[in-house]
Amino acid sequence: MYAIIMAGGMGTRLKERTGAMPKGFVPVAGVPVVEQSVRKLFAAGIEEIIIGTGHCADWYERLAARYAGITLAHNPHYARTGSMETLACCASAVKRSGSGGVILLESDIIYDAHGLTALRNDPHENAVLASGATHGGDEVYLEQDGAGFLTGCSKDPGALTRIAGELTGISRVSKATLDAMVACARDSANPALDYETVLARVSASGPRRVFVRVIARYLWQEIDDESHLARAEALAPAIAESESLLKIRREVLLNPGPATTTDSVKYAQVVPDICPREKEFGAVMAWITAELSRMAGGDRENGGEIETVLFGGSGTAADEVMISSCVPDTGKLLVIDNGAYGARMAKIAEVYRLNFEVFRSSGFLPLDTEAVKAKLLEGRFTHLAVVYHETTTGLLNPVPELGRLCREHGITTIVDGVSAFAAIPIDMDRDGIDFMASTSNKNIQGMPGAAFVFCRSAALKAVKDYPMRNYYLNLWDQYRHFKNTMQTRFTPPVQTLYALRQAIMEAKRETVAGRYARYSACWDVLVRAVKELGLEMLVPEAAQSKLITAVIEPSNPAYDFEVFHDTARARGFTIYPGKLAGANTFRIANIGDIQVPEMERFTRVLAAYITGLAHA
Ligand SMILES: *Cc1c(COP(=O)(O)O)cnc(C)c1O
Repeated sequence: MYAIIMAGGMGTRLKERTGAMPKGFVPVAGVPVVEQSVRKLFAAGIEEIIIGTGHCADWYERLAARYAGITLAHNPHYARTGSMETLACCASAVKRSGSGGVILLESDIIYDAHGLTALRNDPHENAVLASGATHGGDEVYLEQDGAGFLTGCSKDPGALTRIAGELTGISRVSKATLDAMVACARDSANPALDYETVLARVSASGPRRVFVRVIARYLWQEIDDESHLARAEALAPAIAESESLLKIRREVLLNPGPATTTDSVKYAQVVPDICPREKEFGAVMAWITAELSRMAGGDRENGGEIETVLFGGSGTAADEVMISSCVPDTGKLLVIDNGAYGARMAKIAEVYRLNFEVFRSSGFLPLDTEAVKAKLLEGRFTHLAVVYHETTTGLLNPVPELGRLCREHGITTIVDGVSAFAAIPIDMDRDGIDFMASTSNKNIQGMPGAAFVFCRSAALKAVKDYPMRNYYLNLWDQYRHFKNTMQTRFTPPVQTLYALRQAIMEAKRETVAGRYARYSACWDVLVRAVKELGLEMLVPEAAQSKLITAVIEPSNPAYDFEVFHDTARARGFTIYPGKLAGANTFRIANIGDIQVPEMERFTRVLAAYITGLAHA
């Protein structure tokens, strides 16, 4: 899904402002209009924005440096060409022809994001958004035929017969139509053409017709001169109000998953019904698995080879896939249990009657790597299962160190990375991880329902002939079926996967390192408050993941987790009870779409409750 923003123009009618700056950078309500547009497009599920630059292109270079997902295409002849030439410069950057088409926008407009939703849901191959009368003084009128398709455009209403409305500067076209526009412009040999003129010509001559989608009271404003700018400032609050109607009530989840999500991820689930056996959906899943593989260190260009296998289910399903599918009858598995999730993997191994042993270790003290090593070698183990980040307590296990050791000794590693992936930078090749589980609802910040297993290709091929101990959760069958058909064997969680696609795009823009920095900043705020209140943490600070914190409950008999929980919940924060037997803790996770000011607000709720106990 692409968007193209045509931003080559000189903006001569805003001369004082745009002499040394492109028109798109004129601020309205304090934010450059083109930046407002970029944010709306990314929130609407656009993966890549191509901006056609001209006048003062360096401003766009700086914008592109701040927003991953922006590609620039320069029109060197911007001073003497029209917007069609800039569009043509961008067209070749559209590589894939996704079924969503390409959104075309002018750089100098502010608009209500509902317009993007209307265009996306329009059933026609191409659609141009038209509004009712704006009396803006520089309107371009659109003419339509009896069926509603575009037949012409002009600034002179007298030149048109059936006027549908005014051009807003927002359209959606297929890749084929975009190519037809480029060809049409080349044939005309007129470099000064506007893109809307070409759009109307292509539509009028068929077969690539463009539907005129009219929203009579659409909120938008093009900014060509000072009077337009004043109108835009006056209109901005109405646009903000209209868009605010879509805002979902904020609940900050401080439980360790499902994590707090962005509204754009929530809305990404709202899609037309689709049979998951359609090619279009297969392409969505293929995109998701390729991007996830890349995030786990699989970057084909650099030789790394990771395969991601998707299942419907929670994170435990991915754990069960690994334990049940990746150990042969002749194998011997060592499971490290230093928390509830390690114990869970051991339980799964027991259910499947594998040949396995458990290495038990403290839930809050760092793992003794040397002892694990000695056990692995003495016991001639072939497989090691370990949790990357024990969500029970927030303890981080030394997986890269264990992984390297196992690689040296030919031991296959099975890692529950459910609460580590997408926050802690992981490279399976570098870290010696053969199989790793994760899920859609933790640090990747999507919805619950999709589980995935990352596999190093060589290790995956080895499980091909292992016994099939179950049916639904078999790794090799699921992998092979998807490879051959681009379909999962059974119904996938369709809407969860659309949300996951949006979540992956947002994770890529933030980067895993950026995400961990944000999580850590929230953790810093929390830990400072915990210490100021005189509370103690279960795990020594140096061994903590900074993703979840187990806090020892105050000894004051007035303390009651349920009361604390309800108090916090009433203020929009969901906290979580402890899980480690023998230690009375409550847990605060700081994964998900949580910002520092929200964590600061939570620490005030925490402080009010804890200090209140003294007076109880
Ligand atoms: C959340 C989590 C899981 C999966 O739990 P589900 O309840 O199945 O989602 C597995 N392992 C770890 C370490 C986790 O944090």
